[in-house]
Amino acid sequence: AQPAAELLDAVLPQTGKARRVGITGVPGAGKSTLIDALGMHLVRDRGERVAVLSIDPSSPVSGGSLLGDKTRMARLAVEPMAFVRPSPARGPLGGVAPRTREAILLCEAAGFDTVFVETVGVGQSEIAVRQMTDCFVLLLLAGAGDELQGVKRGIVEMADILAITKADGANREAAARARSDYAGAMQLFPPAEDRWSPPVLTTSALEGEGIHELWAAVLAHQTHAEASGRRLARRREQAVAWMRELVTTGLGRALTAEPGVAAVVADYETRVAEFKISAVSAANEVIRRCLRRG
Ligand code: GDP
Repeated sequence: AQPAAELLDAVLPQTGKARRVGITGVPGAGKSTLIDALGMHLVRDRGERVAVLSIDPSSPVSGGSLLGDKTRMARLAVEPMAFVRPSPARGPLGGVAPRTREAILLCEAAGFDTVFVETVGVGQSEIAVRQMTDCFVLLLLAGAGDELQGVKRGIVEMADILAITKADGANREAAARARSDYAGAMQLFPPAEDRWSPPVLTTSALEGEGIHELWAAVLAHQTHAEASGRRLARRREQAVAWMRELVTTGLGRALTAEPGVAAVVADYETRVAEFKISAVSAANEVIRRCLRRG
């Protein structure tokens, strides 16, 4: 890990200049098609450089990739002004999320104007993406009636922008309805600290509709967050939270690598498994004994 740390420190003065945009949605919500369209808009119409990183936690059931192995973002992937990480890092979330944070900084130092971080809507990974980006965009599919049931309320509440995808063809009307339903639901959430009210848009990556509007919303959010000081505050909080996370996992790892500690831990684990001691007091004991050694 040491060379990585040195590299990150060396590039740190060149970081911080990109927009960090998180994109999430359930498998099939249209993430890769939308990022492809949005990215091409940025590269072609605005002359920007775009990077796309993915957090692809393995499926807890199959162990397989949740973002899919098919060729994703076909146009952007071959665009010289864009970098699409070819095979998304995957594995348990705790392993891939820190790598993605490092990759964001490297992309910024390399001069990318926008870094998209994409993930699937399956819980923890969305929270991880929210915690490493400036603007969190939630993609939603218009469903049959129970729009608000499918997505966890907590995730909707974290969103800075909502987009109802695939608003075209036979789905156009359902998308418009979903948009007004969500817009109504958003009113019920307590206002954000900086009084940003998340817009709800409709997009069709297929027809190229709503793409410019979605980007305009990202820029409006950025302007708002910069003016309120929220963007810098959020980045500071994120950097400190990242450090704390590394300290906690690093301490845990260092501890179990200590000779003697593994045996103590194994002993307590056996007694916990046999219900001879509660998990709580076993943990307290292990911590107490380890600290005394140090
Ligand atoms: P992801 O799993 O969230 O990355 O979703 P994909 O981008 O792979 O899209 C899933 C499916 O929806 C694909 O078959 C796409 O062709 C289709 N799709 C994506 N965007 C649109 C859209 O704007 N309109 C329509 N009608 N289909 C779309």
